[in-house]
Amino acid sequence: MFKDIPVEVGVIYEGERIRRNDMQVELGGPTVKQKFELAKVKPLDQIEDGKVFIIGPDLKDLPEGGAYPFGILIEAAGEKLDAGLEGVLERRIHGYLNYIEGFMHLNQRYDIWIRIGKKSFQKGLNNFEAIGQVLYKLFKSELPIIEKLQITFITDAAKLEQMTPAAIQDYESRDSKARGLKDAEVDTFYGCALCQSFAPSHVCVITPQRYSNCGAISWFDGKASASIDPKGPVFAIPRGDIINEEKGEFSGINEAAKKRSMGEVNKVWLYTAFDYPHTSCGCFEAVTFYIPEVDGMGVVHRSFKGATVNGLPFSTLADSTAGGRQIDGFHGMSIEYMRSTKFFAADGGWNRIVWVPKEVKEKVKEFIPKDIVDKIATEDDAKSVDELKAFLTAKQHPIVARWSAEEAPAEAEAITINEDAAGTMMPVATAGSLPFMAGGFKIILKDAKIYANRVIIQTVKDKDKR
Ligand code: SF4
Repeated sequence: MFKDIPVEVGVIYEGERIRRNDMQVELGGPTVKQKFELAKVKPLDQIEDGKVFIIGPDLKDLPEGGAYPFGILIEAAGEKLDAGLEGVLERRIHGYLNYIEGFMHLNQRYDIWIRIGKKSFQKGLNNFEAIGQVLYKLFKSELPIIEKLQITFITDAAKLEQMTPAAIQDYESRDSKARGLKDAEVDTFYGCALCQSFAPSHVCVITPQRYSNCGAISWFDGKASASIDPKGPVFAIPRGDIINEEKGEFSGINEAAKKRSMGEVNKVWLYTAFDYPHTSCGCFEAVTFYIPEVDGMGVVHRSFKGATVNGLPFSTLADSTAGGRQIDGFHGMSIEYMRSTKFFAADGGWNRIVWVPKEVKEKVKEFIPKDIVDKIATEDDAKSVDELKAFLTAKQHPIVARWSAEEAPAEAEAITINEDAAGTMMPVATAGSLPFMAGGFKIILKDAKIYANRVIIQTVKDKDKR
Protein backbone atom coordinates (compact mmCIF):
# COMPACT_ATOMS: atom_id res chain seq x y z
CA MET A 1 0.00 0.00 0.00
CA PHE A 2 2.92 2.36 0.68
CA LYS A 3 5.32 1.35 -2.10
CA ASP A 4 5.42 4.89 -3.47
CA ILE A 5 6.21 6.41 -0.04
CA PRO A 6 9.96 6.96 0.51
CA VAL A 7 9.94 5.76 4.15
CA GLU A 8 8.29 2.87 5.96
CA VAL A 9 4.80 3.17 7.39
CA GLY A 10 3.50 0.94 10.17
CA VAL A 11 2.46 0.63 13.79
CA ILE A 12 6.06 -0.11 14.84
CA TYR A 13 6.83 3.60 14.40
CA GLU A 14 4.08 4.71 16.80
CA GLY A 15 5.57 6.24 19.90
CA GLU A 16 8.81 7.19 18.12
CA ARG A 17 10.39 10.28 19.69
CA ILE A 18 12.45 12.69 17.63
CA ARG A 19 14.94 14.76 19.58
CA ARG A 20 15.81 18.32 18.60
CA ASN A 21 19.24 17.32 17.25
CA ASP A 22 17.66 14.69 15.01
CA MET A 23 14.89 16.81 13.57
CA GLN A 24 14.77 18.37 10.12
CA VAL A 25 11.98 20.78 11.03
CA GLU A 26 9.31 21.33 13.66
CA LEU A 27 5.74 22.13 12.60
CA GLY A 28 3.62 23.84 15.23
CA GLY A 29 4.89 23.15 18.74
CA PRO A 30 5.39 25.34 21.80
CA THR A 31 7.25 28.18 20.08
CA VAL A 32 4.74 28.65 17.26
CA LYS A 33 1.47 30.56 17.62
CA GLN A 34 -0.43 29.58 14.46
CA LYS A 35 -1.24 25.86 14.40
CA PHE A 36 -4.26 23.60 14.26
CA GLU A 37 -5.67 20.42 12.80
CA LEU A 38 -9.27 20.09 11.82
CA ALA A 39 -11.58 17.56 10.16
CA LYS A 40 -14.69 18.61 8.28
CA VAL A 41 -17.43 16.54 6.66
CA LYS A 42 -18.52 17.93 3.29
CA PRO A 43 -21.00 17.00 0.54
CA LEU A 44 -19.62 14.45 -1.94
CA ASP A 45 -19.51 16.90 -4.82
CA GLN A 46 -17.25 19.29 -2.92
CA ILE A 47 -14.36 16.87 -2.46
CA GLU A 48 -11.60 16.03 -4.96
CA ASP A 49 -10.86 12.49 -3.88
CA GLY A 50 -7.16 11.87 -3.18
CA LYS A 51 -6.14 15.49 -3.75
CA VAL A 52 -3.46 17.04 -1.52
CA PHE A 53 -3.39 20.84 -1.43
CA ILE A 54 -0.45 22.81 -0.05
CA ILE A 55 -0.88 26.44 0.99
CA GLY A 56 2.51 28.02 1.64
CA PRO A 57 6.04 26.60 1.33
CA ASP A 58 6.41 22.83 0.92
CA LEU A 59 8.44 20.77 3.40
CA LYS A 60 11.63 20.84 1.31
CA ASP A 61 11.51 24.64 1.20
CA LEU A 62 11.47 25.08 4.99
CA PRO A 63 15.01 25.81 6.27
CA GLU A 64 16.47 23.02 8.43
CA GLY A 65 16.18 23.30 12.20
CA GLY A 66 13.32 25.83 12.25
CA ALA A 67 9.83 25.73 13.74
CA TYR A 68 6.99 26.78 11.43
CA PRO A 69 3.28 27.65 11.56
CA PHE A 70 1.28 24.65 10.46
CA GLY A 71 -2.24 23.49 9.79
CA ILE A 72 -3.83 20.24 8.60
CA LEU A 73 -7.35 20.22 7.18
CA ILE A 74 -8.98 16.87 6.45
CA GLU A 75 -12.17 17.10 4.41
CA ALA A 76 -14.18 13.92 4.01
CA ALA A 77 -17.43 12.92 2.34
CA GLY A 78 -19.63 9.83 2.40
CA GLU A 79 -23.31 8.94 2.34
CA LYS A 80 -23.16 7.80 5.97
CA LEU A 81 -20.82 10.50 7.25
CA ASP A 82 -22.13 13.43 9.24
CA ALA A 83 -20.67 16.32 11.24
CA GLY A 84 -20.95 14.24 14.44
CA LEU A 85 -17.97 12.22 13.21
CA GLU A 86 -15.61 15.16 12.66
CA GLY A 87 -13.98 14.83 16.09
CA VAL A 88 -13.40 11.12 15.47
CA LEU A 89 -11.76 11.69 12.07
CA GLU A 90 -9.66 14.50 13.47
CA ARG A 91 -8.20 12.40 16.28
CA ARG A 92 -7.18 9.69 13.80
CA ILE A 93 -4.67 12.18 12.32
CA HIS A 94 -2.55 11.67 15.47
CA GLY A 95 -2.50 7.88 15.15
CA TYR A 96 -1.96 7.71 11.38
CA LEU A 97 0.82 10.29 11.17
CA ASN A 98 2.70 8.50 13.93
CA TYR A 99 2.79 5.36 11.72
CA ILE A 100 5.28 7.18 9.45
CA GLU A 101 8.95 6.41 10.05
CA GLY A 102 10.68 9.51 11.40
CA PHE A 103 7.48 11.44 12.04
CA MET A 104 6.39 12.54 15.51
CA HIS A 105 2.93 13.99 16.11
CA LEU A 106 1.95 15.16 19.59
CA ASN A 107 -1.13 16.83 21.05
CA GLN A 108 -4.26 17.90 19.18
CA ARG A 109 -6.48 20.64 17.84
CA TYR A 110 -4.88 24.11 18.35
CA ASP A 111 -1.85 22.63 20.11
CA ILE A 112 -0.26 20.27 17.54
CA TRP A 113 3.46 19.64 17.69
CA ILE A 114 5.14 17.76 14.85
CA ARG A 115 8.76 16.88 14.14
CA ILE A 116 10.13 15.38 10.94
CA GLY A 117 13.35 13.43 11.44
CA LYS A 118 16.44 14.27 9.38
CA LYS A 119 16.98 10.66 8.27
CA SER A 120 13.45 10.35 6.87
CA PHE A 121 13.77 13.73 5.19
CA GLN A 122 16.99 12.58 3.51
CA LYS A 123 15.27 9.37 2.39
CA GLY A 124 12.77 11.51 0.49
CA LEU A 125 10.09 12.46 3.00
CA ASN A 126 10.59 16.07 1.96
CA ASN A 127 7.15 16.95 0.61
CA PHE A 128 3.62 17.16 1.97
CA GLU A 129 2.23 15.23 -1.00
CA ALA A 130 3.81 12.01 0.36
CA ILE A 131 2.52 12.66 3.88
CA GLY A 132 -0.93 13.43 2.49
CA GLN A 133 -0.94 10.19 0.53
CA VAL A 134 -0.19 8.21 3.71
CA LEU A 135 -3.10 9.90 5.46
CA TYR A 136 -5.37 9.35 2.46
CA LYS A 137 -4.59 5.62 2.23
CA LEU A 138 -4.95 5.01 5.97
CA PHE A 139 -8.20 6.94 6.29
CA LYS A 140 -9.73 5.20 3.27
CA SER A 141 -8.59 1.68 4.26
CA GLU A 142 -9.41 1.88 7.97
CA LEU A 143 -12.66 3.81 7.73
CA PRO A 144 -14.59 2.56 4.66
CA ILE A 145 -17.42 4.90 5.61
CA ILE A 146 -15.29 7.61 3.96
CA GLU A 147 -15.99 7.70 0.22
CA LYS A 148 -13.94 10.74 -0.71
CA LEU A 149 -11.14 12.56 1.09
CA GLN A 150 -8.97 15.57 0.37
CA ILE A 151 -6.18 16.94 2.52
CA THR A 152 -4.79 20.45 2.85
CA PHE A 153 -1.49 21.37 4.53
CA ILE A 154 -1.00 25.01 5.41
CA THR A 155 2.35 26.61 6.21
CA ASP A 156 1.33 30.16 5.28
CA ALA A 157 1.10 32.10 8.56
CA ALA A 158 -1.41 34.66 7.26
CA LYS A 159 -3.72 31.94 5.96
CA LEU A 160 -3.51 30.10 9.28
CA GLU A 161 -4.32 33.29 11.16
CA GLN A 162 -7.38 33.70 8.95
CA MET A 163 -8.56 30.06 9.35
CA THR A 164 -7.94 29.63 13.09
CA PRO A 165 -11.06 31.39 14.51
CA ALA A 166 -13.38 29.08 12.54
CA ALA A 167 -11.47 26.02 13.79
CA ILE A 168 -11.73 27.22 17.42
CA GLN A 169 -15.45 27.78 16.88
CA ASP A 170 -15.80 24.19 15.61
CA TYR A 171 -14.02 22.78 18.68
CA GLU A 172 -16.24 24.81 21.00
CA SER A 173 -19.48 23.69 19.33
CA ARG A 174 -18.40 20.03 19.58
CA ASP A 175 -17.50 20.45 23.27
CA SER A 176 -20.69 22.21 24.22
CA LYS A 177 -22.79 19.34 22.84
CA ALA A 178 -21.82 17.02 25.68
CA ARG A 179 -22.36 19.58 28.44
CA GLY A 180 -25.50 18.98 30.46
CA LEU A 181 -25.52 15.20 30.05
CA LYS A 182 -24.71 13.37 33.29
CA ASP A 183 -22.63 10.23 33.85
CA ALA A 184 -25.45 8.63 35.84
CA GLU A 185 -27.83 9.10 32.89
CA VAL A 186 -25.95 6.83 30.46
CA ASP A 187 -25.20 3.12 30.69
CA THR A 188 -22.15 3.14 28.43
CA PHE A 189 -18.88 5.04 28.72
CA TYR A 190 -16.06 4.93 26.16
CA GLY A 191 -12.40 4.10 26.47
CA CYS A 192 -9.51 5.17 24.24
CA ALA A 193 -6.18 3.39 24.04
CA LEU A 194 -4.70 5.48 21.23
CA CYS A 195 -1.96 6.85 23.48
CA GLN A 196 -0.72 3.43 24.61
CA SER A 197 2.08 3.77 22.06
CA PHE A 198 3.52 6.47 24.33
CA ALA A 199 2.07 5.34 27.69
CA PRO A 200 1.44 1.56 27.61
CA SER A 201 -0.76 1.33 30.72
CA HIS A 202 -2.88 4.38 29.88
CA VAL A 203 -6.56 4.13 29.06
CA CYS A 204 -8.70 7.23 28.77
CA VAL A 205 -12.16 6.82 30.20
CA ILE A 206 -14.51 9.19 28.43
CA THR A 207 -17.81 9.93 30.11
CA PRO A 208 -20.29 12.76 29.58
CA GLN A 209 -18.82 14.56 32.58
CA ARG A 210 -15.17 13.68 32.12
CA TYR A 211 -13.74 14.59 28.74
CA SER A 212 -10.69 12.76 27.38
CA ASN A 213 -7.29 13.98 28.58
CA CYS A 214 -6.35 15.42 25.19
CA GLY A 215 -9.56 17.40 25.01
CA ALA A 216 -10.23 16.02 21.54
CA ILE A 217 -12.76 13.25 22.23
CA SER A 218 -16.09 13.85 23.92
CA TRP A 219 -18.53 11.15 25.01
CA PHE A 220 -20.43 11.72 21.74
CA ASP A 221 -17.19 11.37 19.74
CA GLY A 222 -16.43 8.15 21.63
CA LYS A 223 -19.87 6.80 20.84
CA ALA A 224 -19.54 7.68 17.15
CA SER A 225 -16.03 6.25 16.91
CA ALA A 226 -16.91 2.95 18.58
CA SER A 227 -19.92 2.53 16.31
CA ILE A 228 -18.11 3.09 12.98
CA ASP A 229 -14.91 1.26 13.97
CA PRO A 230 -15.64 -1.14 16.86
CA LYS A 231 -12.19 -2.74 16.54
CA GLY A 232 -10.43 0.64 16.59
CA PRO A 233 -8.71 2.38 19.51
CA VAL A 234 -11.97 3.73 20.94
CA PHE A 235 -14.23 1.13 22.55
CA ALA A 236 -17.43 0.95 24.57
CA ILE A 237 -17.24 0.40 28.33
CA PRO A 238 -20.48 -0.84 29.90
CA ARG A 239 -20.80 1.41 32.95
CA GLY A 240 -21.63 -1.41 35.37
CA ASP A 241 -22.46 -0.77 39.01
CA ILE A 242 -21.85 2.50 40.76
CA ILE A 243 -19.38 1.50 43.49
CA ASN A 244 -18.68 4.97 44.84
CA GLU A 245 -20.81 7.81 43.52
CA GLU A 246 -18.82 10.57 45.21
CA LYS A 247 -15.40 9.48 43.93
CA GLY A 248 -16.73 8.30 40.57
CA GLU A 249 -15.95 4.59 40.80
CA PHE A 250 -17.81 2.26 38.44
CA SER A 251 -17.34 -1.50 38.15
CA GLY A 252 -17.28 -1.38 34.33
CA ILE A 253 -14.43 1.14 34.35
CA ASN A 254 -12.36 -0.90 36.81
CA GLU A 255 -12.76 -4.00 34.65
CA ALA A 256 -11.88 -2.19 31.43
CA ALA A 257 -8.88 -0.44 33.00
CA LYS A 258 -7.54 -3.73 34.36
CA LYS A 259 -7.94 -5.49 31.01
CA ARG A 260 -6.61 -2.73 28.79
CA SER A 261 -3.69 -1.81 31.07
CA MET A 262 -2.71 -5.48 31.36
CA GLY A 263 -3.29 -5.48 35.10
CA GLU A 264 -1.31 -2.28 35.84
CA VAL A 265 -4.39 -0.26 36.80
CA ASN A 266 -7.16 -2.00 38.73
CA LYS A 267 -9.18 0.83 40.14
CA VAL A 268 -10.04 4.30 38.82
CA TRP A 269 -11.79 7.14 40.60
CA LEU A 270 -12.98 9.63 38.03
CA TYR A 271 -13.70 12.71 40.14
CA THR A 272 -10.58 12.99 42.28
CA ALA A 273 -6.85 13.59 41.93
CA PHE A 274 -6.07 11.39 44.92
CA ASP A 275 -5.60 7.69 45.69
CA TYR A 276 -6.79 6.18 42.37
CA PRO A 277 -6.89 9.07 39.92
CA HIS A 278 -7.48 8.62 36.21
CA THR A 279 -4.18 7.78 34.50
CA SER A 280 -2.32 10.42 32.53
CA CYS A 281 -0.78 9.68 29.13
CA GLY A 282 1.23 12.60 27.76
CA CYS A 283 -1.28 14.32 25.50
CA PHE A 284 -3.16 16.06 28.30
CA GLU A 285 -3.92 19.74 27.84
CA ALA A 286 -3.20 20.63 31.47
CA VAL A 287 -1.87 19.20 34.74
CA THR A 288 -3.40 19.59 38.16
CA PHE A 289 -0.85 19.49 40.96
CA TYR A 290 -1.30 19.29 44.71
CA ILE A 291 0.25 22.12 46.73
CA PRO A 292 0.70 20.69 50.26
CA GLU A 293 1.60 24.05 51.84
CA VAL A 294 -1.98 25.26 51.27
CA ASP A 295 -3.75 21.90 50.91
CA GLY A 296 -5.05 23.09 47.55
CA MET A 297 -4.51 22.31 43.89
CA GLY A 298 -3.00 24.29 41.07
CA VAL A 299 -3.57 23.88 37.35
CA VAL A 300 -1.09 24.58 34.57
CA HIS A 301 -1.65 24.23 30.83
CA ARG A 302 0.78 23.14 28.15
CA SER A 303 1.57 26.55 26.70
CA PHE A 304 2.22 28.25 30.06
CA LYS A 305 5.70 29.76 30.01
CA GLY A 306 7.95 29.78 33.05
CA ALA A 307 7.52 28.45 36.56
CA THR A 308 4.19 27.83 38.25
CA VAL A 309 3.46 28.92 41.79
CA ASN A 310 5.41 25.98 43.27
CA GLY A 311 8.51 26.86 41.24
CA LEU A 312 8.14 24.03 38.71
CA PRO A 313 7.33 24.54 35.01
CA PHE A 314 4.71 22.61 33.04
CA SER A 315 7.36 20.29 31.57
CA THR A 316 8.54 19.06 35.00
CA LEU A 317 5.00 18.66 36.31
CA ALA A 318 3.98 16.86 33.10
CA ASP A 319 6.94 14.46 33.45
CA SER A 320 5.87 13.73 37.02
CA THR A 321 2.36 12.93 35.83
CA ALA A 322 2.66 11.24 32.43
CA GLY A 323 3.37 7.66 31.38
CA GLY A 324 0.05 5.99 32.12
CA ARG A 325 0.58 6.07 35.88
CA GLN A 326 -1.73 6.98 38.74
CA ILE A 327 0.16 9.63 40.69
CA ASP A 328 -1.48 10.72 43.91
CA GLY A 329 -2.20 14.45 43.72
CA PHE A 330 -1.14 14.84 40.07
CA HIS A 331 -3.60 14.63 37.23
CA GLY A 332 -3.37 15.15 33.47
CA MET A 333 -6.63 16.45 32.04
CA SER A 334 -8.42 18.47 29.38
CA ILE A 335 -9.48 22.09 29.75
CA GLU A 336 -13.04 20.95 28.99
CA TYR A 337 -13.06 18.83 32.18
CA MET A 338 -12.78 22.13 34.09
CA ARG A 339 -16.21 23.04 32.71
CA SER A 340 -17.76 19.87 34.15
CA THR A 341 -19.80 19.87 37.34
CA LYS A 342 -17.82 16.75 38.29
CA PHE A 343 -14.48 18.62 38.07
CA PHE A 344 -12.62 17.15 41.08
CA ALA A 345 -16.01 17.03 42.78
CA ALA A 346 -14.77 14.53 45.39
CA ASP A 347 -11.90 16.85 46.37
CA GLY A 348 -14.06 19.93 46.85
CA GLY A 349 -14.35 20.98 43.19
CA TRP A 350 -13.47 24.62 42.55
CA ASN A 351 -13.24 25.23 46.31
CA ARG A 352 -10.02 23.22 46.23
CA ILE A 353 -8.44 25.04 43.27
CA VAL A 354 -6.11 27.83 44.38
CA TRP A 355 -3.96 28.76 41.38
CA VAL A 356 -4.75 28.79 37.64
CA PRO A 357 -2.96 30.65 34.83
CA LYS A 358 -5.00 33.66 33.76
CA GLU A 359 -5.30 32.37 30.17
CA VAL A 360 -7.05 29.22 31.40
CA LYS A 361 -9.09 31.07 34.00
CA GLU A 362 -10.42 33.35 31.28
CA LYS A 363 -11.41 30.34 29.13
CA VAL A 364 -13.41 28.62 31.86
CA LYS A 365 -14.52 31.66 33.88
CA GLU A 366 -18.23 31.20 33.30
CA PHE A 367 -18.02 27.68 34.77
CA ILE A 368 -16.33 28.75 38.02
CA PRO A 369 -18.81 29.47 40.83
CA LYS A 370 -19.22 33.25 41.05
CA ASP A 371 -18.36 33.44 44.75
CA ILE A 372 -14.94 31.82 44.20
CA VAL A 373 -13.74 33.15 40.86
CA ASP A 374 -11.87 36.17 42.30
CA LYS A 375 -10.43 34.09 45.14
CA ILE A 376 -8.41 31.85 42.82
CA ALA A 377 -4.95 33.26 42.21
CA THR A 378 -3.25 33.57 38.81
CA GLU A 379 0.39 34.23 37.98
CA ASP A 380 -0.35 37.94 38.41
CA ASP A 381 -1.46 37.38 42.03
CA ALA A 382 1.07 34.84 43.30
CA LYS A 383 4.46 33.75 42.01
CA SER A 384 5.48 31.71 45.06
CA VAL A 385 3.77 29.63 47.70
CA ASP A 386 4.27 32.38 50.29
CA GLU A 387 2.56 34.90 48.02
CA LEU A 388 -0.18 32.36 47.38
CA LYS A 389 -0.84 31.88 51.10
CA ALA A 390 -1.07 35.64 51.59
CA PHE A 391 -3.45 35.99 48.61
CA LEU A 392 -5.74 33.17 49.75
CA THR A 393 -5.85 34.54 53.27
CA ALA A 394 -6.62 38.07 52.11
CA LYS A 395 -9.36 36.85 49.76
CA GLN A 396 -10.76 34.36 52.29
CA HIS A 397 -10.60 31.51 49.79
CA PRO A 398 -12.63 28.52 51.12
CA ILE A 399 -9.37 26.58 51.47
CA VAL A 400 -8.48 28.84 54.41
CA ALA A 401 -11.35 27.35 56.39
CA ARG A 402 -9.81 23.91 55.84
CA TRP A 403 -6.56 25.11 57.41
CA SER A 404 -8.26 25.99 60.67
CA ALA A 405 -10.69 23.04 60.53
CA GLU A 406 -7.85 20.54 60.26
CA GLU A 407 -4.47 21.84 61.33
CA ALA A 408 -2.10 24.32 59.82
CA PRO A 409 -1.17 23.03 56.38
CA ALA A 410 2.12 21.25 56.05
CA GLU A 411 5.20 23.39 55.80
CA ALA A 412 6.68 21.44 52.94
CA GLU A 413 10.33 21.93 52.14
CA ALA A 414 10.88 23.50 48.75
CA ILE A 415 11.84 20.85 46.23
CA THR A 416 14.87 21.76 44.20
CA ILE A 417 15.49 19.58 41.22
CA ASN A 418 18.94 19.74 39.73
CA GLU A 419 18.33 17.89 36.48
CA ASP A 420 22.01 17.70 35.55
CA ALA A 421 22.90 16.16 38.87
CA ALA A 422 19.92 13.82 38.75
CA GLY A 423 21.09 12.58 35.38
CA THR A 424 24.58 11.64 36.57
CA MET A 425 24.09 10.49 40.17
CA MET A 426 23.09 6.95 41.05
CA PRO A 427 19.90 6.63 43.07
CA VAL A 428 20.39 5.52 46.69
CA ALA A 429 16.97 3.95 46.76
CA THR A 430 14.30 3.01 44.25
CA ALA A 431 10.77 1.82 44.86
CA GLY A 432 7.73 0.96 42.80
CA SER A 433 5.48 2.49 45.44
CA LEU A 434 6.82 4.24 48.51
CA PRO A 435 4.24 5.56 50.96
CA PHE A 436 5.12 7.77 53.93
CA MET A 437 3.42 10.21 56.26
CA ALA A 438 4.51 13.84 56.57
CA GLY A 439 2.81 16.81 58.15
CA GLY A 440 -0.44 14.89 58.52
CA PHE A 441 -0.50 13.90 54.83
CA LYS A 442 -0.07 10.51 53.27
CA ILE A 443 2.41 10.85 50.42
CA ILE A 444 2.97 8.03 47.97
CA LEU A 445 5.98 8.10 45.70
CA LYS A 446 5.47 5.80 42.73
CA ASP A 447 8.37 4.59 40.59
CA ALA A 448 10.58 6.62 42.90
CA LYS A 449 14.32 7.08 42.46
CA ILE A 450 15.88 8.82 45.46
CA TYR A 451 19.17 10.73 45.19
CA ALA A 452 21.11 12.08 48.18
CA ASN A 453 24.29 14.08 48.64
CA ARG A 454 24.94 12.23 51.89
CA VAL A 455 23.63 8.98 53.33
CA ILE A 456 23.81 8.49 57.14
CA ILE A 457 23.42 4.93 58.38
CA GLN A 458 22.81 4.43 62.08
CA THR A 459 21.97 1.26 63.91
CA VAL A 460 18.92 1.42 66.13
CA LYS A 461 21.27 0.85 69.11
CA ASP A 462 23.37 3.91 68.18
CA LYS A 463 20.26 5.99 67.88
CA ASP A 464 18.91 4.85 71.24
CA LYS A 465 22.14 5.96 72.97
CA ARG A 466 21.75 9.57 71.81
S1 SF4 B 1 -5.54 11.41 25.34
FE1 SF4 B 1 -6.96 9.75 25.65
S2 SF4 B 1 -8.67 10.13 24.29
FE2 SF4 B 1 -6.98 11.41 23.61
S3 SF4 B 1 -6.01 10.17 22.03
FE3 SF4 B 1 -4.93 9.76 23.96
S4 SF4 B 1 -5.93 7.95 24.84
FE4 SF4 B 1 -7.26 8.78 23.23
